[in-house]
Amino acid sequence: VSERFDFVVIGSGPAGQKAAICAAKAGKRALVIERARAVGGACVHHGTIPSKTLRETVLAVRGLARRSGGAMGRMAASSSTEIRGLMTRVERVIGAHEDYIATQLARNGVAVWHGQARFVSAHEIEVRAPSGSVSRAWGDHVVLAVGTRPRTPPGVDVDHEHVFDSDSILSMTYLPRSMVVLGGGVIACEYASIFAALGVEVTIVDSGARPMAFLDPELTSGFVDAFRAHGGRYLASCRAKSARHDGLAECEIVLDNPAGHERVTAEKILCALGRVANVDALALEAAGLATNDRGLIAVDDEGRTAVPHIYAAGDVIGPPALASAAMEQGRHAIRHALGLPSGTAASVSPIGVYTIPEIASVGLSESEALARFGGCVVGRAPYRELARAHIAALDDGFIKLVADPAGEKLVGVQVLGDGASELVHVGQMAIAGGLEIDALIETSFNFPTLAEGYRVAALDVVKRRP
Ligand SMILES: Cc1cc2nc3c(=O)[nH]c(=O)nc-3n(C[C@H](O)[C@H](O)[C@H](O)COP(=O)(O)OP(=O)(O)OC[C@H]3O[C@@H](n4cnc5c(N)ncnc54)[C@H](O)[C@@H]3O)c2cc1C
Repeated sequence: VSERFDFVVIGSGPAGQKAAICAAKAGKRALVIERARAVGGACVHHGTIPSKTLRETVLAVRGLARRSGGAMGRMAASSSTEIRGLMTRVERVIGAHEDYIATQLARNGVAVWHGQARFVSAHEIEVRAPSGSVSRAWGDHVVLAVGTRPRTPPGVDVDHEHVFDSDSILSMTYLPRSMVVLGGGVIACEYASIFAALGVEVTIVDSGARPMAFLDPELTSGFVDAFRAHGGRYLASCRAKSARHDGLAECEIVLDNPAGHERVTAEKILCALGRVANVDALALEAAGLATNDRGLIAVDDEGRTAVPHIYAAGDVIGPPALASAAMEQGRHAIRHALGLPSGTAASVSPIGVYTIPEIASVGLSESEALARFGGCVVGRAPYRELARAHIAALDDGFIKLVADPAGEKLVGVQVLGDGASELVHVGQMAIAGGLEIDALIETSFNFPTLAEGYRVAALDVVKRRP
């Protein structure tokens, strides 16, 4: 016999959590099914939280070095960059986050079953617990929030000892001397810049002409310049034909590369060549569902799949594949199912990329504005013109504002450098509120701050108005 719920949510990552809590807050009976030992999803256990915790520690050590002219950095580097020490902190942060999510689900009365879920029919889901016991749940509505896992392409021999993927990279027990990162996406660039900042000789092997090609080229070239300045090597337009440990001392990567590099060696490899949806175990056909040609679950603007009472949210539906988007998609699906109004602010969603230096973007890029309006006015505030950046020894970075062709209305913001993922929210609110460039000039910002760069960049826009 199946236990009946208003909403059955499969997966406890950001999308599943927020969907279940949204349903429970609306007075509905919600169940979350999670096959992993703990709730939180890839976000908490293998993705956002661990990578950002490691990065924060690295930044603290690097910041100390920069601000003390090197003296304190040497001391800090020798005591803090031992990989075991860095990982202890990661485990503490993951534990705290996991507890917080479990408590939040319990406080809202959301039931949590641990086990592997699979459809028996469009409303019925079988859950096989790790002990082998089987239970069944019936959902008037179902939300698929099963996320993704790293893709291992043919020829790449991921052994989790010498050749890692993004799920296993932080299980390394010591820092290698050298590392090749396969891929030019966000995860590849984030880890490449973190390890480069830790003193590892990092080479990025990217099949594209530039990394993170969905971003404004000024942001990506700023990233590549800084990565090279920190000793990183960026190989564009080349593909790894094979990548494996040679069984002795090193890893070898054979490249398919017209530019000449044919073979690269390193102590370790990180394979970050995309992700695949966690749909294999779900028996989608029993619910009348199928994946699309990219192996993802297709949904409409409301998050509905081809079966109207089944929604999908988060990475399993595809880009942008960010935790922030996953949360919003989870809530949006429930609000739609319950006939509740949805907010409109989500239409101006920011992107944050935690490379070193950090990158953030919201609204239109310069090329998108050109394509949409046939013109635009751009203003910049380089960090070197900001007192806060001098004090904090931040040389790389800028705030770039994109305005309409008259140079009056703010339509996009791009930020490179420390604080980018926080700074971008000023622009997000300005765009969502339809603010004019002049409003940024009339605003008094704290001094010294990086946010003051909005005023500097707005003045630059005014200077360039037609
Ligand atoms: C290294 C890395 C760094 C990242 N950094 C950032 C960042 O800085 N900022 C950001 O916004 N995003 C970041 N992301 C992306 C972010 O982690 C994802 O967008 C987010 O986790 C997606 O949430 P989700 O709920 O869709 O899926 P997930 O978090 O993947 O959760 C899915 C859950 O479903 C469970 N599940 C799957 N199949 C079944 C089944 N059949 N039965 C039961 N349970 C099942 C899984 O065990 C998992 O717990 C990063 C990702 C990675 C890998």
